[in-house]
Amino acid sequence: MAKGPSDIGEKNMALKQENMASNQKRIELNQKTVETSQEPLMPNRENRNREAAEIEAARLKEQETEAARLKGQETRRRNYEKRMEKQRLAALAAEEQRLRQRQKDEGFMREALRQAQKAAAIGDVPIGCVIVRGDKIIARGYNRRNADKSVLSHAEIISIKKACKKIGDWRLEDCTMYVTLEPCPMCAGAIINSRIRRVVYGAADTKAGCCGSVTDLFAMPFNHHPVVEQGLRAEEAQELLQAFFKDLRARLAARPKWKPPV
Ligand SMILES: [Zn+2]
Repeated sequence: MAKGPSDIGEKNMALKQENMASNQKRIELNQKTVETSQEPLMPNRENRNREAAEIEAARLKEQETEAARLKGQETRRRNYEKRMEKQRLAALAAEEQRLRQRQKDEGFMREALRQAQKAAAIGDVPIGCVIVRGDKIIARGYNRRNADKSVLSHAEIISIKKACKKIGDWRLEDCTMYVTLEPCPMCAGAIINSRIRRVVYGAADTKAGCCGSVTDLFAMPFNHHPVVEQGLRAEEAQELLQAFFKDLRARLAARPKWKPPV
């Protein structure tokens, strides 16, 4: 069967339809491509969201770090204040203790000065002494060198003898001596030998003092080193001595002078 023009026309029609179908396919494909090309927009939004979340997390972490830093700073400040307060209270307690001890020392030295007046009353150089154990006076003594005609009768030696007798021991390790004048070499030696813990004296003795004036026996390498405090009621002790020697000079001046026989 020969191919007629109608056949050709049909063929063309079929070709056209085919073209149209392929065009349609292309359009659909294009549309799909457009749709798929729109899909990457979604991950971008997610990225943005993720970035925002990360920024927010970083901000929160920074806030937490800052809060922890401030908390640490506050703890350190509180600890420092506690430490300072503890130190302040300790210093206050030490100062109170020092003042209480000072008051006690004043009272005991007052008693030593009373003992010195007793020496002056019998014509001896006014030097007085007390020995204290705990808060109690266990021995009193005053200078009796002239009265006893003995170089050993210094206020300190007399007091040490009495204290040893009182407690029944030659060791006076937990005792304090209060004496109106700086101890001489003999008395400083007796203090070392009796192991008196602390010595408080009033006036310095530049001629015979052995706790720093002429020499310091307590600083020498003996087996005992008493704690020494000086200058307590020193003016009163000095006044007593000055008044005694002024009176002695006046009495010596008033004595009838020797006159050569005519
Ligand atoms: Zn002496």
